[in-house]
Amino acid sequence: MRPSLAERWADHLPQLAGVPVVTLGEGSTPLLPAPRLSERLGIELWLKWEGANPTGSFKDRGMTVAVSRARADGAPGVVCASTGNTAASAAAYAARAGIEATIVVAEGAAAASKLAQVRAVGARVVEVPGTFSDAYDASLGLAEREGFAQVNSTNEHRIAGQMTAAFEIVEELGGLPDVLTLPYGGGGNTKAYARGFLALAGALPRLHPAQAERRADTAASAIRIVDPIHRHEVEEAMVRSGGAVVTVSEEEIAAAWHAVRHEEGVFCEPASAAGIAALFAGAARPGERVVCVLTGHGLKDPAAVERAAA
Ligand SMILES: *Cc1c(COP(=O)(O)O)cnc(C)c1O
Repeated sequence: MRPSLAERWADHLPQLAGVPVVTLGEGSTPLLPAPRLSERLGIELWLKWEGANPTGSFKDRGMTVAVSRARADGAPGVVCASTGNTAASAAAYAARAGIEATIVVAEGAAAASKLAQVRAVGARVVEVPGTFSDAYDASLGLAEREGFAQVNSTNEHRIAGQMTAAFEIVEELGGLPDVLTLPYGGGGNTKAYARGFLALAGALPRLHPAQAERRADTAASAIRIVDPIHRHEVEEAMVRSGGAVVTVSEEEIAAAWHAVRHEEGVFCEPASAAGIAALFAGAARPGERVVCVLTGHGLKDPAAVERAAA
């Protein structure tokens, strides 16, 4: 049996020492070469395929740590605000742990299949009017009133778990890539990669998180976050790595999403293509070794394919 994320990286996860781990087989995801896009872009491109995680996104890496700790600490349940994937992950790991999960979403903002994932494992969904920030505030109130553990990316255990993706990349490539690109929603994952690379390799690749120009209403629903909560840490990582946030348009995201599906056969969700869009916009120089993190599975939002007219 392959080791759980917590077993594989136990030395880096002191918060799980002596804690029974809640696992669904997360982590150890494929690092896929992307020969056609590499040729087109004149770089050596690798895709970190996070859609291969148990609930279909990288959120599972942090959730195994956060939910294991919540249960060990005696929390009766977990609560989070979500654009969909955090919800699907929290719900599944809570079910596995035998504790409750309450999910707060902004009305109409989460893809239907992500909410189906939540309901399928028995979590409670609360819809609130407004934006992700309103849902987040409501989740804090619930955590306070019910004694639930809050498992948004402000939960440090989640960031710790997400660092393991950087560890896997360094181990598999035998060192740091020159560049890492990934979508930038709240910035928790950018922060986690930066910490992970520093912890294992003592240095950073050039980081290029890609945000939607239209943060408020982008078709890439997983990064539809107006006010990125980890903005300061992301800016710090830009200075330290010599990188920069890349802002991409709806058309650029759509074209990148089309390219990674049609040219590499990898069906990620639209938000995941933001990092590819950053590369088409020139984030990497010729010959550089680049890892692009494909954060979530395309089956998360199949209707998006129809909307994009394939
Ligand atoms: C959560 C998520 C993101 C955004 O990650 P942040 O840590 O909020 O920047 C991007 N893509 C997918 C598929 C996600 O689920």
